[in-house]
Amino acid sequence: MASVVRWLATVDNSQLAEHLRFFQELGVSGVSRDARWQRRETVLQPEPAPLSEAPEIAPASATTAKEESSTPSGVSEPVGAAVKLARKSEEALQQIRSEIGDCTRCKLHRLGRKQIVFGVGNPKADLMFVGEAPGADEDTQGFPFVGRAGQLLTKIIEAIGLQRDDVYIANVIKCRPPENRNPEPDEVETCEPFLFQQIDSIQPKVIVALGTFAAKALLKTQDPISRLRGRAFDYRGATLIPTFHPAFLLRSPDRKRDVWEDMKKVRDLLQTSSSDEGSSVGPA
Ligand code: URA
Repeated sequence: MASVVRWLATVDNSQLAEHLRFFQELGVSGVSRDARWQRRETVLQPEPAPLSEAPEIAPASATTAKEESSTPSGVSEPVGAAVKLARKSEEALQQIRSEIGDCTRCKLHRLGRKQIVFGVGNPKADLMFVGEAPGADEDTQGFPFVGRAGQLLTKIIEAIGLQRDDVYIANVIKCRPPENRNPEPDEVETCEPFLFQQIDSIQPKVIVALGTFAAKALLKTQDPISRLRGRAFDYRGATLIPTFHPAFLLRSPDRKRDVWEDMKKVRDLLQTSSSDEGSSVGPA
């Protein structure tokens, strides 16, 4: 709640109106001051997600930060341990980034990419989003999801009471394909081990696969997103939730309600896992 109050202090009336319009499009059926509503006790009915096993994928070699943690001297548990974990994850991500270097492993490096778009966000995020590949804006700015689709993704994140900085955002491949064509199999094969390493370093509780391409690439399936969304998968120690890509939502805004259903499930999963650990995720 405190983060919402902070956010409200930074927006003007037209931004607030746009925010509320977006919630309406998502299918959110009202706002209440009632504390029970704000905790979504009545609105969110946890639906048991059918968990099915994703195919076995060989573990990546990156450091798994959680396993290596120990309490730093002079810093009390559990804060000290959390700080140390975050530092380990950050270092692991930096190592992966430097291993990628100025990558020439696949043909995309000579097909017009300006820079590698590695990923951005909280190195210890509980929630990670995985998209397809950088587009023109991302290629120019060096960060994933900064164009129109990215702005919509930011709103989707905020709709469950989180900020972009709370989560981690990456793509299956790290270079822009020419003319925004789909990534080709050899490009995915070359690049995805780095994504797996990122996942293993961050150890998110929930991964949201954005769109057909990311969902199919991660789950190694040919099923389209329409068959995959609405389900949950065990994936590299996390629960993977496939949903529609924000770029698709820009073309088909009527599907925002489906994404809202998926995001409620994500919020439930995050709340369940954080209450297991004795802390809480603040509702929007
Ligand atoms: N679409 C994606 O899949 N990734 C981005 O980073 C931007 C748009």
